[in-house]
Amino acid sequence: MFVLIVSFAFILPFALGSDAPCHNIGGTCQDDHLHCSGSYTSGLCSGGTHRRCCSSHTGNTTLLFIRTIQVTNKICIRGICFFAIVAVDIGGCTGVKIYSRDSWGARRPKSFSTFHTPASLFFVHHTAGNECHDFNSCASTLRGIQNYHMDTRGWSDIGYSFLVGQDGNIYEGRGWHHVGAHTQGYNSRGFAASFMGNFMTHLPNAASLTAVKHLIACGIQKGFVSHSYHLYGHRDVGTTECPGDRLYHEIQSWPHYSHTHP
Ligand SMILES: [Zn+2]
Repeated sequence: MFVLIVSFAFILPFALGSDAPCHNIGGTCQDDHLHCSGSYTSGLCSGGTHRRCCSSHTGNTTLLFIRTIQVTNKICIRGICFFAIVAVDIGGCTGVKIYSRDSWGARRPKSFSTFHTPASLFFVHHTAGNECHDFNSCASTLRGIQNYHMDTRGWSDIGYSFLVGQDGNIYEGRGWHHVGAHTQGYNSRGFAASFMGNFMTHLPNAASLTAVKHLIACGIQKGFVSHSYHLYGHRDVGTTECPGDRLYHEIQSWPHYSHTHP
């Protein structure tokens, strides 16, 4: 087993419109990676970030953060294993980095429903759990949340569409393509971003607040969120303290915040 170190210059061809990088490692490019029988890797297929390279090998995801790239899935060909290095930012939007599910070591969902975009609603939550301030601790926190949602709550996947850390980065939960489990009664009409931490008595930092604003702008730009969307806090539509007193007060000054019940 060895680690294949590549440079940005080597990564570049992966994004230039050919599925060859995937085929070369014995994988197939699929529109929905959830049908992969083994692991999947981002950045090896042409045509957009939703197309991912499926490998028949089921391996443990290894996380090793190197600047803005990530060493993820172990891929084995005829018994020789190496690590694929892929770009992790699935967003392609300015001002925000969105770490893909495979970046943080997400489990595959037990099932999913396709979200019919554009969404007319966007909800802000907090996790009421631990804050995280760097990639590794955020990835670990995310895996814990996903385990809790799937194993304790019995859901098919982590509930939120996206999560944001105090590292100022967005993390893909169910993403733009799948219906979430975050805001009862509204899941098929809206996406949700959840701030990791408890924001009853203090605000999330500026970097994370800005990241979520950019995430929403990204969603609009890509057609996943309606231009005329309405923004809410979780407590606007449910009996909960979420997203925390301070964060709830903050989002009421954001564009598109709505005082009208959806
Ligand atoms: Zn909530």
